[in-house]
Parts: sequence; C-alpha cells; structure tokens
Amino acid sequence: MSGPRFGSLESGGTKFVCLVGSAPDRIEDEIRFPTGAPEPTLARAVAFFEEAAVKGPLDAVGIASFGPLELRRSHPLYGHLAATPKPGWSGVDVAGTVAAALGVPVAIDTDVNGAALGEGRWGAARDRDTFVYLTVGTGIGGGAVIGGRVITGLVHTEMGHLSVPRVPDDDFPGSCPFHGDCWEGMAGGEAVAARWGRPAEELTGETLRRALHLEAVYLASGLRDIIYTTAPERIVIGGGMAVLPGLFPLVRDELARTLAGYPGLPEHAADDFVVPAALGRLAGPAGGLVLAERAAEQARRAAGGGASRPSAHVSGVPPLEEEPA
Ligand code: ZN
Repeated sequence: MSGPRFGSLESGGTKFVCLVGSAPDRIEDEIRFPTGAPEPTLARAVAFFEEAAVKGPLDAVGIASFGPLELRRSHPLYGHLAATPKPGWSGVDVAGTVAAALGVPVAIDTDVNGAALGEGRWGAARDRDTFVYLTVGTGIGGGAVIGGRVITGLVHTEMGHLSVPRVPDDDFPGSCPFHGDCWEGMAGGEAVAARWGRPAEELTGETLRRALHLEAVYLASGLRDIIYTTAPERIVIGGGMAVLPGLFPLVRDELARTLAGYPGLPEHAADDFVVPAALGRLAGPAGGLVLAERAAEQARRAAGGGASRPSAHVSGVPPLEEEPA
C-alpha cells in the first residue's frame, strides 16, 4: 500500500493548478488551466480530482486560494470568497463546492498562506517554525507562520498594505486603489511598472539600477516592521519581483541600514535570514498538500482517531492544534 494521496488546488486569480500527490517530489498527476467563470472553473477542478479518485481514494483536498477569504471556522461563510474585484467570484463557496462534490475533508487558506506552509514544510523555511513568507509579484502578500501555525484572526494578514515611509524626493503617488502609497502601492510589480513606464523585467542599465535600489529600500522598510512585530527566524521572498537580478544583496544591505543596529542581532544580517523562496511555482500547490494532510488528520481525530487507512502516519503530520486556519 502506498502512502497518503492528497489533492491540492491552487486557485489563483489568473490560473488554477490542481495536482494529486503527497509532496512536491511525489506528484502523480497535475493540471493547470486559466481561471474563468466560477462554476465551470470549479467544475473542471472537481472533474480532475474525481478522475484521480477512480484510481484510488483521495484522503483530503487542500485549497490555497486567492482572496479575500472568510477563514473564521465558526463563520457561516467559512471558505467563501469575500468581495473581490475578480468578476463573478465575490461570495463564491470555493471550499464547500469542492467538499460537497468530492465527499472528502477539505481545508482552505489563502494562496499566500498556502505558499508559506509549503515553503515551511519542503522549501526555504523547512528548518524554521517561526518565519514569514512574502510574495512580491504584481502586489505584495505575506503569510506569518508562528510556531508552525499560520496567523489568521478576524481576517488573514494583509502585509502588502503596511505603511512604509516615503523615500525623500520620490513623487510617485503609489498604485494601491485603497491606500495609494502603502507597501505594495510603492513596491509591488504593478507599482514598479507604473513608476518606470514598463515592467521591472524589461528595465535595463541605469534605470534598472535605480529601480532595484528603490525597490530594496521599500522592501527593507516593510521587512523592518515585520521583524519588529512577528520576530521571524527567517524571511522567505518569492514572486516575480524576487527574481530580479541582484535584489537580495541590496535588500539585505538596506535592511541592515534601516534596522540601525537595533536589536543588534547578527542573525538579521546573515545571508540566510532574508532568502529567496525555494519551491518556485510549486510553493502554493505544496501548501495545498500541507492543508490536505492537516484536514485528513483532523477528520481522523474527529472520527475517533482510528486509522482507517494505512496512510495515517501521524508522525509526519503537524500537531492538529495547528489547525488548517
Ligand atoms: Zn494598500
């Protein structure tokens, strides 16, 4: 008998990634397709999992979804999307639709929190249990894992909307529709493209040098706030902006500058403190696998703890108090 079989769904604003497996290097099947209207898009994902289940039952499905999401487990709209600019998707019951169709335990979290869980389990933070995962793509999103548990409360975190001090002489108004010059309004990919007139990956020469410097300054400002509020042991940065050449050394330099020696930990200046994500495009789907694993374990405990399937190797499963928030 082989190990557990989980379904993972990364539902993004532009594409869906569905896979079946148990780890990033144990994926037996995968499909990706553009995000269209809710009903046919979710139906396509469900059909993929149903087909996979023909070969053998799935233990659970984990969903890492674009947001905003209702994640309070006692809330009647748990697992539903809240108001989103994505046409047609506001209020859609993503988790419930999948659970009802497949009849297996389903857990859901944001795509960013999912990626954080994936990087924490198999990627750049696998040796840390208190860390922050940040994606710097079109916008900025962050997930904080504290003691192995993703932080959510009334809502999931919205680190991209931190307030950062404006760099003197920077007259770019900011691109956030809510706050203007918040963190992602100044340092997200959309902001960078608006500031320089073309996407960051098309910048060259002196413009690229200036853009990278400014990006590093703004990223470091937000990282300082994160360091002072969540005390991470590591900060992992993924997303399209994170692969700009030479960005990480600049961010580390600017971070050291803005921390200004307080609290003076050498760890904050070390090369393994602010690091690139390791799982790339698999971070979110890997997070879906972690969520699925937790959902399966939770369901097993709720059913009385009996291991109905030999896949119940609980040793590798995070404690369930770390519920799939
Ligand atoms: Zn904002």
